[in-house]
Amino acid sequence: MPTLFTSLPLDTLRAIVQEVDAAPSLHAALEVMVKRVAEAMQADVCSVYLLDDRNQRYVLMASEGLNAQAVGEVYLNKGEGLVGWVGSREEIVNLEDAESHPRYHYLPETGEERFHAFLGIPIMYRRNVMGVMVVQHREKTEFSEAAESFLVTLCAQLSGAIAHAHAVGQVDVFRKPSNTPTSKTFQGVAGTSGIAIGRAVVFYPVADIDLVPDRQADDIQEELKLFQEAVIAVRQEIAELDAKMQDTLRPEERALFSVYLRMLDDHALPAEIAARIRAGSWAQGAVRVIIQEHSSQFAQMKDDYLRERASDLRDLGRRLLTRLQAGDHHQRDLGEDSILLGEEISTATLVELPLNHIAAIVTTEGAANSHMVIVARALGIPTVVGVTELPITQLDDAEMIVDAHQGRIFVHPARRIRQKYREIQREEEQAAKDLKAYENRDTVTLDGHRVALFVNTGLMIDVIRGTQRGAEGVGLYRSEIPFMLRSRFPGEEEQRMTYRQQLSHFANKPVIMRTLDIGADKDLPYFSIKEENSALGWRGIRFTLDHPEIFSTQIRAMLKANIGLNNLNILLPMITSVSEVEDSLYLIERAIFEIETEEGIKLKRPPVGVMIEVPSMLLQIEDMASLIDFFSVGSNDLTQYLLAVDRNNPRVAGLYSAYHPAILRTMNLLVQKCQEVNRPVSVCGEMAGDPATALLLAAMGYSSLSMSAANLLRVRKTFCNIELTEAKTLLADVLKMDNPALIRSWIGYYLDKKGLSDMIRPVQQTF
Ligand code: PEP
Ligand code: MG
Repeated sequence: MPTLFTSLPLDTLRAIVQEVDAAPSLHAALEVMVKRVAEAMQADVCSVYLLDDRNQRYVLMASEGLNAQAVGEVYLNKGEGLVGWVGSREEIVNLEDAESHPRYHYLPETGEERFHAFLGIPIMYRRNVMGVMVVQHREKTEFSEAAESFLVTLCAQLSGAIAHAHAVGQVDVFRKPSNTPTSKTFQGVAGTSGIAIGRAVVFYPVADIDLVPDRQADDIQEELKLFQEAVIAVRQEIAELDAKMQDTLRPEERALFSVYLRMLDDHALPAEIAARIRAGSWAQGAVRVIIQEHSSQFAQMKDDYLRERASDLRDLGRRLLTRLQAGDHHQRDLGEDSILLGEEISTATLVELPLNHIAAIVTTEGAANSHMVIVARALGIPTVVGVTELPITQLDDAEMIVDAHQGRIFVHPARRIRQKYREIQREEEQAAKDLKAYENRDTVTLDGHRVALFVNTGLMIDVIRGTQRGAEGVGLYRSEIPFMLRSRFPGEEEQRMTYRQQLSHFANKPVIMRTLDIGADKDLPYFSIKEENSALGWRGIRFTLDHPEIFSTQIRAMLKANIGLNNLNILLPMITSVSEVEDSLYLIERAIFEIETEEGIKLKRPPVGVMIEVPSMLLQIEDMASLIDFFSVGSNDLTQYLLAVDRNNPRVAGLYSAYHPAILRTMNLLVQKCQEVNRPVSVCGEMAGDPATALLLAAMGYSSLSMSAANLLRVRKTFCNIELTEAKTLLADVLKMDNPALIRSWIGYYLDKKGLSDMIRPVQQTF
């Protein structure tokens, strides 16, 4: 029996992917795809059926080989026919003669009766079926394994693009186009809970050509003028570069500069960009569109030399943008209720913005426990991250609803949804008012057990909110946050003043100050650490021990700030080995000695503790206990390292869970080990601030928990309304379970019974 298509042409595959990526719309992308695949496989038919979830059916969206009139018209109900079968099994179906198969469902409009061989591949995106690609052939024959692999590879590569195009379409792909923007929903990962209704402001890095948003020009003449100036400036820049390189580069190597200048000729790119501005776009958006259009054409060319021109074009685009952004006219002002959208927004960027105008933050990258989210949580700003499909460049000024409880974004929401969310907002405001009753209460369970609640700080607002909400001290002061607000490393006196504020605000209460914890996602704007595998790289104590001058300055500032207050505790982050603690203690002792000699005063040595964030600590509790005074569990990093799940990667966000049995069992083990060595232990990761996990931690024996001020009252209310003995029974139950989702719902059920379901799910609704 002959088999079809025996080799796998990698170049063809790459070319198809590129061409499809460059297509301007989903329909165009699908058309290109079916055409190219049919050609490459010499198949008689290639079709794509997409799943229309709303109507539960597969619609024929593009076809090469079937009757053209059938496209967009015929469909198979979910589960119907061979296409439905491929979709429901989520597996490849390869048949020599489709017609003789019991699942075959004949669609007369398509004219497919002429074709016998059938190969169906499910198009999967994040475990969901997006559609089915079908290749058919006249002869009765089997498709080869190479054909299967070719299509599987192609579908896997293209599914993201399809999902994206599908999601970004201004119109619903299964409906006729209309001019009113259709409301769209996008799913991301909930970062900080809350709801916001407002208008999008796209925040984009300077000179990143792909992220410039579409925007209408306020003043077309002004935009044209700005653009003209930018062109002149870039021409001059290129001419200067050319002159500068005259002695260094050979003429043929400098030919690139003339190519650039030719592209910048009045009749070339500038004419196209100016036309777009005249049609109403602002200058930066026009540059993006024209440069992207041309560079994607070049990128598809077979000739290496011409393909290279794509990067020249983008470089030219970047130069133009840099000029256009040189004035202050690129980032839009933040009006009231602005919803900040971006690919990624760093903590440093966030804290520089007018925070009272930010109603919510939405990013396409990042995950729930990234540093920016933790800061946003402290600020009480609803945040959703990892909304990978959000077409940010098209959304500037769009009306949006951010449901950060469920990680859901509504763009151009329908009136009904807006009304519903307004109602929910009102309910939440009322709930926040009710929580105020817990501001001045002790945290004592119904059966009389006290739990000490501390606040995590970084900004002054945390201190204010923490005090107002009755925190018993600071369980984690993230000292890197004030470092992020500067444009250089702060000096000793600057730091002393900042630390003094924290310590004096909580005079007579313990303040645990963590030494500088930078690296991984905690970047300083003036000291960027770029690493392939940054979570396992130069971070926390590893960085500061390599820079004793930075570490010692910080310790000296902390010690001096503590004079007369004596409520300082020092905490060392990212400890992996005993030697790191020994080296840190040596530097701390030396700083004490130096200050005592310089100032002629006797200092009280502050207690020193270590964070348990790295799994190696589990096996070194005894060794550490002989050196330090207390432990603090950083469950955010501990979860990341125990589960081998990057806490900032949206693709694996679903795997990052504090409810994972391994995390709960480890936390349980840790508290016992710390009790055995007689050292206090607290938890300062986000687990402590989630009422559901907080009650498990208390049941395990953690008697102090430190959290964002935003969570303090919910956690206190939870404790005040449960019995610790019940929490212990709950803990015993969940420690036997092997599934995070089950564990979560088991605790949810318990809280429900206690009338506390809104502590973990502030809003009950069903969109
Ligand atoms: C942690 O890792 O749990 C922690 C508290 O530190 P951070 O979130 O600042 O890394
Ligand atoms: Mg950490």
